[in-house]
Amino acid sequence: MRSDNRYHSDSTTDEDSVESLFLQLIDALPKVSVQGYDKHRRVIYWNQSSEEVYGYTREEALGRKLEELIIPDHMIDGVIQLHRDWVEKGVPIPSSELLLTGKGGGPVPVFSSHVMLKQHTDSPEMFCIDVDFREQYEARETLRRMATTDPLTDLPNRRYLESELEKVISQVGAGPGEFAILFIDLDMFKDVNDTLGHTWGDRLLHSVAARMQSNLADGEVLARFGGDEFVLVIPRISSANDAQTVAMRVLDLFRSSFSLGSENVYITSSIGISRYPVDGQQPEELLKNADAAMYQAKESGRNRCQFFTSALSDKLRVQRDISNRLHRSLENGEFELVYQPQFEMNDQTVSSCEALLRWRPRDGGPAVPPDLFIPVAERSDLIIHMGDWVLEQACAQVSQWKKDGFNIRVDINVSGKQLEQADFFESLDATIARFGLSPEDLGLELTEHVLIRSNDRMLDGLRALRDRGMTISIDDFGTGYSSLNYLKVFPITHLKIDRSFVVEAPENDLDGALLEAIVSVGHGLRLEIVVEGVETEEQAVFCKALNIDYAQGFWYSRPVSAEDVVSFFKP
Ligand code: C2E
Ligand code: CA
Ligand code: CA
Repeated sequence: MRSDNRYHSDSTTDEDSVESLFLQLIDALPKVSVQGYDKHRRVIYWNQSSEEVYGYTREEALGRKLEELIIPDHMIDGVIQLHRDWVEKGVPIPSSELLLTGKGGGPVPVFSSHVMLKQHTDSPEMFCIDVDFREQYEARETLRRMATTDPLTDLPNRRYLESELEKVISQVGAGPGEFAILFIDLDMFKDVNDTLGHTWGDRLLHSVAARMQSNLADGEVLARFGGDEFVLVIPRISSANDAQTVAMRVLDLFRSSFSLGSENVYITSSIGISRYPVDGQQPEELLKNADAAMYQAKESGRNRCQFFTSALSDKLRVQRDISNRLHRSLENGEFELVYQPQFEMNDQTVSSCEALLRWRPRDGGPAVPPDLFIPVAERSDLIIHMGDWVLEQACAQVSQWKKDGFNIRVDINVSGKQLEQADFFESLDATIARFGLSPEDLGLELTEHVLIRSNDRMLDGLRALRDRGMTISIDDFGTGYSSLNYLKVFPITHLKIDRSFVVEAPENDLDGALLEAIVSVGHGLRLEIVVEGVETEEQAVFCKALNIDYAQGFWYSRPVSAEDVVSFFKP
């Protein structure tokens, strides 16, 4: 075969002819594979680089067919057709980037151009000039992997997830099919992170990801959405039940502990489920709704799954509406403070009150209760501006009362986002000073939730304020972790027991006993005890008998305007 091939002649007779020089040049071209094929697509020329690029030696390649050597199966018919069209109809094959196959079966990325020689004869010869693209291809692949993989967990990242969802939508969307996504969020992960440190937090995320990943069913895709949030795509379901089954399977994965060094850590997750097409037709909407359902799962007590529902969708609409209207409310001056007095249980005197925010929208809508708009504001920076306004307003009021001869302490509610502000303490001090007040004139109410999330800087700041005489209360005590241990760690002066305990206490022995226990521990830690939500005389009597220091509630007074609250105080 080789001896009668004019491109691979062993003879060196016309060594100095131009043709021979070009042949030598082409034969030795680095990184450019040049192959020649006869009209049956049999190899008639195979340069040195072809050996390197495709792995076949010249001897192995010569005489074999193009499609047997380097064309992947799925391209064979197409290539044969293209070759035929060129030979018979003169349609050239355009240059393009191709993924061909090497000797071992692996992919060989090349940029391929083609030339036909002796086109109008009986023996047309096609030459392929393939520039080796492996390095570029690998670099590009690495970049692509990096851009679509989360480095901590090795899972696909959010970007990949979004394109995956587009893909599934285009596949499923064509037919009557359904698919579902699970939005999985770890419960209390922040606490783990805070107690164990970030390194262990990262390891936990890694272990959780690995466990979920190794329990995926065929076709399911798991991605890290961000932080401690994961999204699982179930590519085909026939009913909501199918999605629920997968969600239960995921929840079950958290039953056994994760070992971190010498510690075994237990953690649970909350899952929101949204389905295509009923809950959304775009990736963004599906994700948003699954996320909302996840929040609902958390609100219902965590470690559970929750479908996106129309009720949830209504609730979101209300929140969106509030959010839209809330935006201009501050500059429009739509807020005011009302004050609810706190009674000393021993002698029924009053020396302080709690400031509560009221919003009366200017658009004529009814007053919106804070339970509705505060959570919405807390999702944006609005709560910070509202908090600033409350502080300013409260200080102005206390200062006015002082001028009128009243010494009234006002307790304000502080949300977590406010406390997180780097200049919170500075700006608090500055405001107090600007109104000529001292730390005793103000109190801060913080929920357990906020205190638990606080870092050393915040705790130090609060401690300094307490030491300078400011009242610091732990609010809604009993609704969160209620760890008595925390009570001695947090720099607080007052413990405010949540309304829920008081409601049942007189009738329900268990609530009564709990209340009594909290009071006794609180007193042991030298904290002043406040009950809120006292609505009946019976409750008031009951609390007094427990030695509770202060009480607040409708039985004593509803929250009232600044003018009205003064009547409770003695000049
Ligand atoms: P909170 O701090 O626990 O405030 C006490 C809530 O209980 C107030 O509701 C008050 O009107 C209500 N209340 C008082 N006595 C009774 C009673 O005897 N029975 C019943 N059923 N309720 C009673 P309000 O004013 O609707 O405030 C709700 C929540 O909104 C507050 O709970 C607080 O978490 C938040 N909030 C109010 N004002 C502010 C504020 O200025 N800033 C922040 N961050 N949150 C605020
Ligand atoms: Ca409060
Ligand atoms: Ca409270």
